Order: sequence, then C-alpha cells, then structure tokens
Amino acid sequence: MADFDGVVSLHLLPEAVEKFHEVLAEALPEVRETAERVFRNASPMGESGTMPATRTAEPSPADSTGVEEDRAKPVVPYIAMWSEEAVREPQLVERRGGAGIAYADEILGDRDSRGVLWDRATVASGRGKPQFAKIHVHRQRRAMRKLLCQVCGRPAHGDDRGVLWLLRNRTGDWRGWPEGMLVSEPPVCESCLALATRVCPALRDEGHLVAQAASCPVHGVEGFRYRAGAGRPVPVENELVSFIAPAIRWTLASKLVRQLHNCTVLEVREGAAAT
Ligand SMILES: [Zn+2]
Repeated sequence: MADFDGVVSLHLLPEAVEKFHEVLAEALPEVRETAERVFRNASPMGESGTMPATRTAEPSPADSTGVEEDRAKPVVPYIAMWSEEAVREPQLVERRGGAGIAYADEILGDRDSRGVLWDRATVASGRGKPQFAKIHVHRQRRAMRKLLCQVCGRPAHGDDRGVLWLLRNRTGDWRGWPEGMLVSEPPVCESCLALATRVCPALRDEGHLVAQAASCPVHGVEGFRYRAGAGRPVPVENELVSFIAPAIRWTLASKLVRQLHNCTVLEVREGAAAT
C-alpha cells in the first residue's frame, strides 16, 4: 500500500497544483459574491421585488449575462485585470547549481505541472475598475489551458474544423500566416466573436482574422527571462519561451502560449488604419 500511495501522490500532484490556481482564480470571487448576496438580502428590496441592481458586470463562467452588451457598463473580458488585483513581485533567487530561478519564499502553487515558475497575482475579479490593457495571469492561463473564451470564460467554439480564434490581422507577417503562429490570447466563443470585433479598438484599427485551428498544442509561455547574476538573477527581456527550451528554467511565466496548426481562415478584415 505504501508503494501504491506513493504512485498516487506522484500522479496527483501536478493536477493538484493546477487545481490550486483554479481555486485562486475562481473560488474566491464566488465566495465574495455569495457574501455580497447575503448583505443585499439584509437590505430593502427594489420596487419590483428584485435585488437592487448594484452588481458589477463580472464575466465569469458562472455569470450567464457576462457577454451581453450592457449600455451602462463596458464588456469586460474574462481575462482582463481589475484595479483591485495586482501582480506581486516576490524576491527572486537563483536555484542551486545554475538550475534557474525560484522565489525566495516559494510554495507549491508557484509552479505548474512542468515545473515552470509563474507570476503571483491577487484575485479580485469584478472589484474596482477594469484594466483592459492588463491580463490576469491566473485567468489567462486557465482560459488557454482549458480553451475557454477570453471574453466570457465559457468553453470556446470548437467543431471538426477546430477551435475558434480571433487574431489581429498580421497577414503580411509571413506566407501562410497564421499557420504556425504562437498565440497568448485565448480563443473565443461564437457569441463573443461579433461583439469583440465591434467593440475592441485594436481589432477595429488593425483589422482582424477569424480562423479555426484543428490543432493548437500548448507550446510554452510568455514571460520575463532572467540570467544568472552576482547575488541574484538579472532580468533580460520579455519573450516567448518553449517548454523544451533550457531558458524555460530562467523564465518567470505570465501567459500560457499555444501554437496554431491546420488553420481554416473564416474571415479577414482590413483595419481602419489601413484604409
Ligand atoms: Zn464568449
């Protein structure tokens, strides 16, 4: 039984680590939401007998109204950060024997099942103001890993032609683009596709391409790469690093990256800036 227990532990450990991040990204907002409902129940009801409309638009998978365009509130992508969320910057140290970087106070959940070190961030989705230009490390990673829609957080569209991706138009980058492209923005669902192309300024200005990728394996991470220094690791630059590259041990990951293969292009739009 001792051997059996040992084997089970080894197999469950990576999943437990992934689960830890999901709990961080998902359970805490739900707990908060439940607490808010309790407080609202203690307040006077609105005239119609419904709850006062004080709830912010939080595009979580549990929120079925997340993708509906609300005149009073902007559509906040599931992966966007909120002003009350922050990336923490704990002290980085060098692992013994030049084996890469580590946190000085590292805990189990700081690394994924491949042993890659990830940014730490607080979780407070829906609190404060949306930070559209910033991506939350846990939600990006969860959406990319599970192929969830980056806008609403529910499963992205997928059929026999593959998973649906909405990309900025870079058709001039190389012949056959986006075949082989490395992407850090998660896929989309059909409901959110039209909405995103209409409301996203970058997609309007630069144009967009809609494609389905029959194959989109996990490739690596985007993150800050470090090198050994005197006393502590020295930052080099932000880059995409493959899971099989030696540099992965020196990279502090902030986004999970997939690679698109066997793409079927459904739509190409020139941007307003190009016309
Ligand atoms: Zn969606």
